[in-house]
This record gives sequence, structure tokens and C-alpha cells, in this order.
Amino acid sequence: MDENKECLKRSRDEESSDDVSNLKKRKVDNAASSSLKSETSNEVDSEGIFSLSDDVLLILLSYLNSTDLFHLSRCDPRLFDICGDKSLWVKVNANCDGSCPSHNEQALFFHPATTHLRFVKTISNDNVTVDTCFKDDFFHTLSNYAPNLKSLVIENHILCSPAFTLENLPATITELRLPRVELLHSDQEKKSNLFQNINKMLPNLEIVDASYCQWFNPHALLALGKCEHLKELRIAGCRNLKDFIPYASIAAIIGFQQLHTLDLRYTGIVDREIACFNKTKSLKHIFLEKPDDIEDLTSDESVTDVCTTSFCMRSCETNHSPNIVFITRIPQDGGTFTDYTLETLVVRNYPGITDITLKHAQKCLKSLKYLDVTGCSCTPQQASIFKQNRPEVELIYDGVALEL
Ligand SMILES: [Zn+2]
Ligand SMILES: [Zn+2]
Repeated sequence: MDENKECLKRSRDEESSDDVSNLKKRKVDNAASSSLKSETSNEVDSEGIFSLSDDVLLILLSYLNSTDLFHLSRCDPRLFDICGDKSLWVKVNANCDGSCPSHNEQALFFHPATTHLRFVKTISNDNVTVDTCFKDDFFHTLSNYAPNLKSLVIENHILCSPAFTLENLPATITELRLPRVELLHSDQEKKSNLFQNINKMLPNLEIVDASYCQWFNPHALLALGKCEHLKELRIAGCRNLKDFIPYASIAAIIGFQQLHTLDLRYTGIVDREIACFNKTKSLKHIFLEKPDDIEDLTSDESVTDVCTTSFCMRSCETNHSPNIVFITRIPQDGGTFTDYTLETLVVRNYPGITDITLKHAQKCLKSLKYLDVTGCSCTPQQASIFKQNRPEVELIYDGVALEL
């Protein structure tokens, strides 16, 4: 088997391989030797994978991730041309595990029709102080390389925040996902202000995911609330949500008009904080789960039936329990209550969620399709009553879907 064929084959096998870094090292060695060989011999080009037409090779290459494409482009001049085909760089999907090339070099392949950039790392390296795969000027020049970018996903990287600022991102972005991204910045205040004016910098935003970003500061909610098109907000695992209420309540009154997905799992936020969002009529999917490291919550510091019933029509207040303290809602349009259209309600591991939540969900949440009360205080009897009355709803009780 010739070197180039071997190179391509290794590259394709790579995702299923356990020993990625070793393979990548061998591949780099291969790349060096094969480019030497193609200069000295025509034999290589006439057989094996090189007998395939450009069109066929292009189809094969479309199955590779962008990191592999980049490595492969270094193997051979013909491969460089085919790997650089614009169609392969519309949705860029870089795997940063193992020996990742600098994204600055990959950026040479970006072009005006590049709409998606995804840089994913599954292994976090505690020894690394900053991710060398993003050189500073990557973000400074991103708007030149991909001026019409729609989606930017950077996962599990450590970024140098003086370079990574919203000003540097293309204003066309609609999806910004930064789960588990750490920022290095000497100025703490600037670091926690990354999302300041996000509504002005990225006016088309529809999806923001800052899950497990400890720099996420609740005052960013004010700017996020003003993002006119924002549909999905995920801040699961953000533990720096002190003073959440003032920002969330103001933001929810003036904004979040289109928000349909809110993920607040593992944040430790409580009833009255979540209830700020009961003014957001567009909400369809709410995710709540108690973090493992918070034990023995009193009802004031936890998520209880007060939270779930705050998403409730006023007419049903007396149906559930006379003891519950309702969080008053102000009717919109001078006095008419519009129904909530919640489709997904996940409230896991909260002792303060009881049968009242099940009764409320059964009677009031008419649009509900999915309800998860795993680890809560709901009784099997009430769960069964719920399922009989609302068979169309998938009810997850203690981790399994309840059957009729
Ligand atoms: Zn990377
Ligand atoms: Zn109700």
C-alpha cells in the first residue's frame, strides 16, 4: 500500500481509534515522507486512491472532520487542492483532541460561504494555560475569513479574552455556543463583562450557550434580554449567579420576548428567581436540576412547587393546594391571562417538588409533552393519576418513562 493511501486510511480510521495522538504523530511523519515521494516519483499518482477522480475523492473527503482535512491537505499537492474545495469548508467541524493544528492555519480555508465553525475538545488539559490552537489573531481576523458566519461553537477551550471579544466576531452570528470555555484575562471585570452589549454586537443572536462558564455574570441577562431574536439560553452549571433577581426580573419585563428554551440546571437558583421568567410567555422548555453539592436546602433556597405553579393560569390557583403561596402574575393587555404553552418541564432532584406540581401540570399545562420529576417528592399514586389523565405526556418518574 502506498504512503498516501495509508495516510488517508489512517485519517479516516482516526475517530474510532483509542490512540489518537500516536496516530497523528505517525500521520505527520507520513505527510513529510509522502510529499517527498510524490516529488521524486510519478508512480504514487497513478495507483490506489489517486486513480480516483477529483469528484470521487471530494465525496470521500466530505466524511472527514476539518482537522483531518487540514492534516491531509499537507500530504500532497493534489490533495491540498481537493481538501481546499470550498464545499468542504462551509460547515467546519474541528476535533481539537490530540495534536490539533493551529486554527489560524485552518482559517486559510474559510471563505465567505463558511456558515458554521465548530471547535470541539473532549479532553480538558489541566496543564495547559491557554489553548494554543487559537492564536490571538484568529479572532482579530475571523470577520475577514468568515464574514457571513452564522454559528460559532467553541467547546472546552481556554481562550485568551483580550483577543476573544464580541467586537471581533462577525455580526452575522445567530448561534454562539461556548460550553466549558474558560477565559484568561488579567482584568477580572473585563472578563466577566464579555457579554456586555451582546445585543448590539450580535443583533441576530438566536441561541446562546454559556453552560459551565464561571465568568458568566448575571448582569449579562440585561443585554441578553434585549437580543430581539433570542430563542434559546443555556447557562447550566454557571455558579456565579449571585444577584440574579434584579437582573433577571428587569430583563424578563423588558425583553426575552422570543425565548422558548431556558436551561438553568445545576445553577443553584431558586423559586423566586426562576419565577422572574413567568412573564416570558414564549417559554416552551424549562430545565431545572439541583446541583449535587448543594444539600439540605430549605424551601427558601430551593426549587419547590412555588416555582412550577408560578407558570400557571390564575383561574387554577385553588385547584392544587390551599397552602401554596402563589407568585402573583400581572395579566398582559390590561386584564386577560394568556395560557402558558410549556411543552417541556424538567425539575429533577428537588425534595420541594411534590404532587402539587403533578396536579398543576395535569390540569394547567395543556401543551405539555414531557415532564421529568425524577428525584422529587412526587408519589407513585399521583404519577399514575397524571399518566391516566394525560397519556400523551411522556412522564419521567425516577429516571424511567412511566407506562400506563
Ligand atoms: Zn481547538
Ligand atoms: Zn396550575
